[in-house]
Amino acid sequence: MANMTLTIDDKEVTTPGGTSILMAARQIGIRIPTLCYHPRLAVTGACRVCVVEIWGRPVLVASCSALAEDGMRVYTATERVLKARRLVVQLLLAGGNHNCLTCQANGACELQALAYELGVETLEFAPRSSGYPKDTSNAMIERDPDKCILCGRCVRACNDVQVNEVIEFGYRARRTKIVTAWDLPYGKSDCVFCGECVSVCPTGALTEKQAKFQGRPWDVKKVRTTCVYCGTGCQLDLNVMDGRIVKVTSNHLHGLPNYGSLCVKGRFGYDFVHHKDRLTKPLIREGDRFRKATWNEALDLVATRFSEIKNARGPDALAALSSARCTNEENYLLQKLMRAVIGTNNIDHCARLCHASTVTGLAAAFGSGAMTNAIADIEHAQAILVTGSNTTEMHPIIANHIKRAVRQKGAKLIVVDPRRIDLVFYAHQWLRPKPGTDVAWINGLIHVILRDGLHDASFIQTRTEGFEALRSAVEPYCPEYVEHITGIAANQIEEAAHMYASASCAGIIYAMGITQHTSGTNNVKSLANLALACGNVGIPGAGVNPLRGQNNVQGACDMGALPNVFSGYQTISDETLRAQMAKAWGIGGLPSQPGKTLMEMMDQALTGNIGGLYIMGENPMLSDPDLHHVRASLRSLSFLVVQDIFLTETAALAHVVLPGASAVEKDGTFTNTERRVQRIRKAVEPIGDSRPDWEIICDLATHLGYPMSYDNPETIMEEIASVTPSYRGISYKRVAGRGIQWPCPSSEHPGTPYLHKDRFACGKARFHPVTYQDPPELPDAQYPLYLSTGRILYHWHTGTMTRRVCGLVERAPECYVEIAPADARQYGIREGDNIRIESRRGKIKAKAHITERAVQGTIFAPFHFAEAAVNQLTHRATDPMAKIPGLKVCAVKLEKVAP
Ligand code: SF4
Repeated sequence: MANMTLTIDDKEVTTPGGTSILMAARQIGIRIPTLCYHPRLAVTGACRVCVVEIWGRPVLVASCSALAEDGMRVYTATERVLKARRLVVQLLLAGGNHNCLTCQANGACELQALAYELGVETLEFAPRSSGYPKDTSNAMIERDPDKCILCGRCVRACNDVQVNEVIEFGYRARRTKIVTAWDLPYGKSDCVFCGECVSVCPTGALTEKQAKFQGRPWDVKKVRTTCVYCGTGCQLDLNVMDGRIVKVTSNHLHGLPNYGSLCVKGRFGYDFVHHKDRLTKPLIREGDRFRKATWNEALDLVATRFSEIKNARGPDALAALSSARCTNEENYLLQKLMRAVIGTNNIDHCARLCHASTVTGLAAAFGSGAMTNAIADIEHAQAILVTGSNTTEMHPIIANHIKRAVRQKGAKLIVVDPRRIDLVFYAHQWLRPKPGTDVAWINGLIHVILRDGLHDASFIQTRTEGFEALRSAVEPYCPEYVEHITGIAANQIEEAAHMYASASCAGIIYAMGITQHTSGTNNVKSLANLALACGNVGIPGAGVNPLRGQNNVQGACDMGALPNVFSGYQTISDETLRAQMAKAWGIGGLPSQPGKTLMEMMDQALTGNIGGLYIMGENPMLSDPDLHHVRASLRSLSFLVVQDIFLTETAALAHVVLPGASAVEKDGTFTNTERRVQRIRKAVEPIGDSRPDWEIICDLATHLGYPMSYDNPETIMEEIASVTPSYRGISYKRVAGRGIQWPCPSSEHPGTPYLHKDRFACGKARFHPVTYQDPPELPDAQYPLYLSTGRILYHWHTGTMTRRVCGLVERAPECYVEIAPADARQYGIREGDNIRIESRRGKIKAKAHITERAVQGTIFAPFHFAEAAVNQLTHRATDPMAKIPGLKVCAVKLEKVAP
């Protein structure tokens, strides 16, 4: 559009056509007050606070919605304008009870600020209550209709930004009110408590309930950091008062990756920091009990026992599990300690349980095992295929991108999932396969795409190899054959294939529903085949995008907390790399033999080959499959050390427990799922005598005879950058703002939003012919149901933190098992009944939740709850390449039991 030139308060401004008067004024530094306007929300012009006078026009206009025009003369603060604004404020103040004295928003309230700015000292109209009571129905959000000015920001935030579509204007005229469906209280509605409504509310109508009376806006210190839960890596501000976190805000509207949005865990999930259960002193086991110890005593004991085991049985008798919850710097140091100080490659972490097959599968196909594109890229896709990812619960902020792409940008959405997950409501195609049949349906899509000539022949020709082998491999997978294996109707295979292949850019998003199978690597290779066949790699809005689970699982992998690679995936089998790393670490040599994976460590502990295990920030006693085996393995160890922030189920078995500091008590970096390295910052002091994990590792190395000391985590990152090509350009200074996506090979490099643009890391990408095989354990007469396990919105991983957050516990206090109505009828089970679920390995009791989300023949149970530890049921069979266990499929039976 052509530029427009106009004057605002007699100052000339030239602005592109289509710009509002409000924005044109801001362009030249003229401030026009607003209330209903918010930069992330659609403009409504509802409140009339931003009115301006335009020369020659009889009425005032709302500057947020009126467009700038050539030759226009605008006046923003004439007496007529100010009078109109004062009237608006008077009416708003009269429409409720705006008692500022104890209002939580006092000092941050936009209406209060406006009244002050306009000099509204006395009320011209008698205040009249809305007549509606406060909604205090939940532990997180309080709504006070008497402070609501009906600006509609919360409605637009809920519907347009988070696309949760929970609240709306209800009733009419003087009775108008913001309501949930059926006008239920928040606590009983479909609200998912993301708090987006709270974050945009200009008054005290919506507030964080637990922050009430804990500190005024001007009293709190805001510390910008990265969320501690999922791999999205949302940026947020911890609001700290007197050394305590009182609430979380997030106003970085232009800040990647979340643009100011958070989910319920990020916004309300921080009570655990100050919880009474926090470990505050090192503990040493004496018989069945622990006694408190000094740091020196505890570390001396660990060093002595580890040295004894090493001297008696060699370095490979020791092993360590690093942590996807800890920082890059801490993961780097723990693998360094194991390799350089102990002399073993026995280091692994929970990526083995979630995305090991991503690393092996994508590395084989593309030469790099990471998410190919950026999160923000999702909204550029024309089609999106989501499979094995309950995105709205596991990665809610990424789900928002998907929902916006569909609702606001016309993208086609294909969801492939046995469960009726929430994304199904936004999908154009929902394919519901039997659990564990992923290779079959993906091959089926490729079969149709090749048969109908929808593939990208030029891309295949120039950028890939192995295509003919793929063509032969998918030949048998006609839609009818795929229907027979998967249960997906043949016509749905046809339609989904056409939908994906006919988009000019289509992205694939997946998570543990794809990876946690004994065929996990093949599942990932199949998805890579699909993307390559359509040329959907190396371009924006496309790619193959694994959503990494925990906050820093990507970083823990990047840092070499894996048994076969140093940081940056530099293979330990390369003699030159080993020599370079040994030189950098000031030692004579490094072990060349790949170490044991997490699952192998447990097996070897049971057989006695591993005698000492160091576990930092992991809880295998809930997260690993077949918990009876895990318990027996950990009990077989001569010496178990656990470093954590709570006495977890695993720590309870340890010989020594070392109290670590939580992520809000230290500095460092996390790397999110899109490879973005971001800062975490210390907001409060470590609780009690707990210490940052990096300090503990340094002290332990020193006790073991390898003096290790760093001034701070920044100096550790300097060392990481010096030995890791993909992190060479990373520094605290450079990642301080929006972070940087690796690869970042130099200090001038801007980072890499999407991989494989002109060239794959391995040169040409490789197709892998893959054939379908049944999962190792299928339902039978004795165990007739599939069990699938996973996470839910309100808890995280083994619940160590979230089960100590009162708002989250209120939403999900106990384990429930999703059962399809038909199965419930067959077993005579009603909603809320106690049921027993039993597999060949164990049994648990939980509550029944009868829901259409579940497909007949398959039940779903979350693994967060120690008292109903679902991994007592799962099996240990692993993918032969990635050694990831098949956690997503096992066979169970169920029965109703007495409470
Ligand atoms: Fe935290 Fe993930 Fe929620 Fe973002 S989406 S606030 S990173 S849990």
